Amino acid sequence: MTYSNRYAHVAWALLVIFGGLSAADVSGDQQTPAGTGKWPAWIDSDKIRGAFDFIHTDNRDHLATLAANGFNTVLVSCASVDVDKPEAIAQMNKQADWCAELGLHFFPSTRLCGGPLELRHLVPGGRAYVDGTGTTLTKTPCPVDPVFWDTVVTRRGQMVARQSLTHQIDGFLLDPEMYGADASNFPGYCLCTHCFDEFFEHRELNAAIPAAADRAAWLQQQGLQAGFNEWKARRAEALARATEQAIHQINPDLVIGVFMLDGNNWYYNAWARGFGTAGMPALAMSENTYSTGATRYLGWTRERLKQLGAHVVLAPGMWLRQFPVENIAGHLFYMAQESAGYWVFTTLGLWMEPEPVPTNDYSLPPPHSSYLDAFSLAAAELDRQAQEGERFAAKLKLVHIQGAPRESIAAAGLLSPAQVKLRTLNPQGRSRPLPDKPTLYSGSAVCYFPVAAGKEITGILRSRPGGHQENVPVYAVIAPSGTVVAEGVLPLNEPVPLKATAPETGLYKLVLGTQAHFFSASLDMPHAVVAAEAVRVIQQVNRMYFYVPPDVEQFRIEVGTPYVAEQAKLLVWDPGGKEAASAETFELLPAVAELNPTPEQRGKVWSFHMLPTYSANLKWDPQLPPYLAEDPEALLVPIE
Ligand SMILES: [Zn+2]
Repeated sequence: MTYSNRYAHVAWALLVIFGGLSAADVSGDQQTPAGTGKWPAWIDSDKIRGAFDFIHTDNRDHLATLAANGFNTVLVSCASVDVDKPEAIAQMNKQADWCAELGLHFFPSTRLCGGPLELRHLVPGGRAYVDGTGTTLTKTPCPVDPVFWDTVVTRRGQMVARQSLTHQIDGFLLDPEMYGADASNFPGYCLCTHCFDEFFEHRELNAAIPAAADRAAWLQQQGLQAGFNEWKARRAEALARATEQAIHQINPDLVIGVFMLDGNNWYYNAWARGFGTAGMPALAMSENTYSTGATRYLGWTRERLKQLGAHVVLAPGMWLRQFPVENIAGHLFYMAQESAGYWVFTTLGLWMEPEPVPTNDYSLPPPHSSYLDAFSLAAAELDRQAQEGERFAAKLKLVHIQGAPRESIAAAGLLSPAQVKLRTLNPQGRSRPLPDKPTLYSGSAVCYFPVAAGKEITGILRSRPGGHQENVPVYAVIAPSGTVVAEGVLPLNEPVPLKATAPETGLYKLVLGTQAHFFSASLDMPHAVVAAEAVRVIQQVNRMYFYVPPDVEQFRIEVGTPYVAEQAKLLVWDPGGKEAASAETFELLPAVAELNPTPEQRGKVWSFHMLPTYSANLKWDPQLPPYLAEDPEALLVPIE
C-alpha cells in the first residue's frame, strides 16, 4: 500500500468514526437510506419566505423589520462560524434566539471554501485540486478529499445540528461557492494522486500512477475516462451521504440545503443524490433564478432533478437589484409555486442607507418602503392562496423584462455603422440557396453585407432555446450612415423573415445579441460573420470558409470547449478541398491546427469545420481576416 492509499484509508476510517458511516456508504453504495426525520409541515403550508442576510448585521431591529414585512425565514451567511470559534457560534445562537422571539425560521449557512477560515484546513502540500494539464491549484481542495470535506462540511453541520437541539435552528445550509479558491467552482474532475490511488484501488489496477501532466491523456488512452469520472461522482455522493447521516444522527429533523445545488454539473448532481432522502429532501437554493425569477426554468429543473433520482426541493432565489421593484411581488409569488418557497439576495441592503446609484453589491435605491411593500404583498397573496384553496384566483402578474432591441444592442456596444471596408471575393457577388441548418451562435454576432441603394435586403433569422431566460435574441440592421433600417426580436423557434429596402449604397451591418438562447442568420446576399471573442459558435453544421491572404505563410486555428463534458474535433481543408489538418480538444485543452500554406494555396479560400459541433469557442489567428461565411461564394474580404 502506498503512502497515499494509507492516507485515504485513515481518512475514511475517520469519517466512519466521526461521521457515523456504515460500511455500505464507504463502498459507495447508492441506496438512499430511509431516515427518520420529519419534513417541516410549515414549508409545505406557508412556504419559505426567505431573506438572505449576514451574521455581521447582528441587529435585532433589522430582523424585526423583516418579520413585520412578509418574511418568515432568514438565511444567515455565517462566514465566521467554525467548530473552534465559540464567539461566532454564540453570535449565531443569539440571532437564532431573536428569530424565535420574532416568529422567524433560521437557517445558518457556512462555506465550503470561502476564505482563510477554510483554507487553513487545506494545509500546504495537502490534497489540492490537480487539473487536466497537471497543474496543482493550491487554493482549491480536491472535491472528494474526505478529510477536508469532513472538516469544513460534516463537522460544521454536526455543530449546527447540536446547537439546534437548544436553539431554534431549522436547517443547515452549505454555500459551495469558493470565494477563497483559485476559481469559485471546481473546474472539472480532479486528477490528484489521491484520486488516482483510490481509483486504482477500486479498479484493482497495478499500473504506476502517471505523472500529473500525463494523467488526462493516460485515462483517455486506457479508455478509463468515463469510469474515472463516474467513480468521482460516486465518491462525492458518498461524502454528501456521510454528512447527511452525521447531521441527522444528531437532529433527524434538521433541513439540509445547498446553494446552487441545481447547477447541473457532476458534483452538484452527486451532492443532490447524496444529501436528500425521500423523507427529508435537500433544498436546492437556486441562484440560476437570480436575474430571471419565475420562468420555465423552474419546471425544467424540477423534472431534471427527478430524472436524476435526487430527493431535492427547489428554493429559487432572487437578486433584488435585478428587478424593478414593481415586478418583485409577482416573481416571488410564482417562484413559490410547486417549490419550497423563495429567498431574496439580499436584505442587507435594507439595513444600509438607500442609494440612488449603488456603490456596493447590496444597497437598494430609495424608498425602502416600496421593497417592504412588495415583500408584504407576495406574502399576503400566498396567505390568501392557502386560505382560498381551489377558489383562489391569482392577482399578481408575472412581468419579464425584455429590453428593447435597440437598447440591448446599444448596451452591447454594437449600435454603430460598419467600421470596416469589405468587398465581395466573388465578382458575381452571389451566394447559393440558404442552408437548411445554418450555424448557430450565442452571445453577440456582427455580420456584414454590401448593398446598393434601392435593393432589397432579404434573409431569414432564427432563434433556438438555449436556457431558461425569457428574453429572446434581438437584431438590428444598420445602414452605412448609422440608420437602423430593421430591428426586432427573434421569438424562439419562429423564423423571422428579414425584408427591408436599402436606403443607401455601402456596407451594412447586421447585429444579433442574446442573454441566453441561440441564433442564426441566413442572408440572400454575400455576407460574412466576424470571428470574434464575443461570438460563440454553438452548432456548426456547414463548413465555414475563410480567406488566407497571399502573404500569410503560416497560421493557426484554435477551438476550445467551455466544459469538460464537451469535446470538439477541428478539421481544416485547403483551397483544393483536401484535408489539411485535424485536431481534437482534450479536457479543457483546445484543439489547435497549425497550417503552412504553399505559395499556391495563399490568396485563396480555405474552410474548416468543428465537430461534433456543440458549443465551441473559436480563437482566430490575427493574421487572417476575421470574416467567415458558410458559402465560399458569399465571402467578404478587406479592401486593402
Ligand atoms: Zn483529487
